[in-house]
Amino acid sequence: MTACTTPVADGMEVENNTEEINDIRKSIIELLFVSGNHFCPACEKSGNCELQALAYRYQMMVPRFPFLFPQKGVDASSPKIVKDQNRCIACKRCIKTIEDEKGRKYFAYKNRGNKLEVILDEEMAKTMTDEIAQLAMENCPVGSILRKEIGYNQPIGTRKYDTKPIGSEIEV
Ligand code: SF4
Repeated sequence: MTACTTPVADGMEVENNTEEINDIRKSIIELLFVSGNHFCPACEKSGNCELQALAYRYQMMVPRFPFLFPQKGVDASSPKIVKDQNRCIACKRCIKTIEDEKGRKYFAYKNRGNKLEVILDEEMAKTMTDEIAQLAMENCPVGSILRKEIGYNQPIGTRKYDTKPIGSEIEV
């Protein structure tokens, strides 16, 4: 049952931190790793990446699924950003949150199923400001959207998840 669509009912017992549930979470992370091309040591987002941080949190070592090594492209045609499809996990965050003052979207889904990609609108890309490019990079949980020329500005070892595990900032 999905937690976000299941109404609360009298007597309902909610478990969200059991061995079985955590193994399902871990398997989803493993599936994301094997269905893209995520090479953390060579990625500018390493240390700031939510997928990498979750893999550490759930102690992923070797995924139990075979790596697919899909052939995916890199779109560097925008003056402000590089969009690397190899690292995209299709979370839709950029589509939902990155828009101009008139509400026009910069990113969109293309194709379906295992051919699904998140692409940058060619015309909108030409008008992208530094602020929007920065927000797009920050909102992307992985290294699929990077600003040109500043990808390595923050030294490794000082990045968000280098010192604290993901989720530790949330008080429970
Ligand atoms: S925010 Fe990043 S990972 Fe999520 S859909 Fe956009 S490009 Fe892909």
